[in-house]
Amino acid sequence: MSFRAVLAWPLAALALLAASVCASWAQDYPARQITMIVPFAAGGPTDVVARVVSAHMAQTLGQPIVIENAVGAGGTTGAARAARAAPDGYTLITGHMGTHAAAVPLYPKLAYHPEKDFEPIAQLAGTPILVLARKDFPASDLKAFVAYLKANTDKLNMAHAGVGSVSHVSCELFNSILGIKPTGVPFNGTGPAMNALVGQQVDYMCDQVINAVPQIRGGTIRAYAVATPERNPSLPELSTTAEAGLAAFQVSAWNAMFAPKGTPEPILARLNAAAAKALDDENVRKRLLDLGSDIPKLDERSRAALGRLVQSEIARWSGVLKTAQN
Ligand code: ASP
Repeated sequence: MSFRAVLAWPLAALALLAASVCASWAQDYPARQITMIVPFAAGGPTDVVARVVSAHMAQTLGQPIVIENAVGAGGTTGAARAARAAPDGYTLITGHMGTHAAAVPLYPKLAYHPEKDFEPIAQLAGTPILVLARKDFPASDLKAFVAYLKANTDKLNMAHAGVGSVSHVSCELFNSILGIKPTGVPFNGTGPAMNALVGQQVDYMCDQVINAVPQIRGGTIRAYAVATPERNPSLPELSTTAEAGLAAFQVSAWNAMFAPKGTPEPILARLNAAAAKALDDENVRKRLLDLGSDIPKLDERSRAALGRLVQSEIARWSGVLKTAQN
């Protein structure tokens, strides 16, 4: 027997042993509490989506899922932390179109890569973007709002959840269509940014529908349009950007769950199945739909579909932001 062959046998045995330890470990999963990192402040869209879906997943999995809001740098601080966590299924993250796509072209030294450092688990909810302003903003419709923004850019500021967040990149696109560069005011999430908008400390924001529905219904902020082709069933009075004269502004965010790269396949499969079960639950659906979000269709629920989405979205936002920032 050659030296190579002598060496190959113990190595193969070791690999077999590792695989069977992994399989039995995955079978017992989850044996303890799971931590779900939310890379933005409590009360914002990511936090709400993560809490609604995780609460149901915890019932299916038979272990608590504890939300940990790890904020900063447009969600990239929490995402970097999740990327470095042990790949054992006990630390997960609810990320989105910002942390797992748009942040890539915006941070040349991003401490993680959405594809190389994460395993996709499942898409959780789609969240159309709305154009919002403080309630006393002096414009009655989107056309007047756009005209006012163009004429008063230097005096106005735009709230967002940090560079690379959904609210930031969505409004970057909006501003580039208008040809304006207002002052940005970053927050640790659009939960606190919304409080500032309600308190009239900031002028406008592009945010995910989830955060805005209760405020719009309560009359504490102004909404000018929803940036999707169809009106939103939760806000039937609100025009689409196309109806309101700004068809070029079209954005709807996606939110999704990820695990650190190397998490065993059986664990990922269990998590994907638990997420799918949550999305089929009547109460979970009602909660998400009432807040204006949409629920991923059956063909969008696989791990592979999320992997493809991340890949195409990194490419799309790299192009959009390059054009927007020039
Ligand atoms: N909506 C935020 C964003 O702009 C994140 C959040 O607070 O959930 O990305």
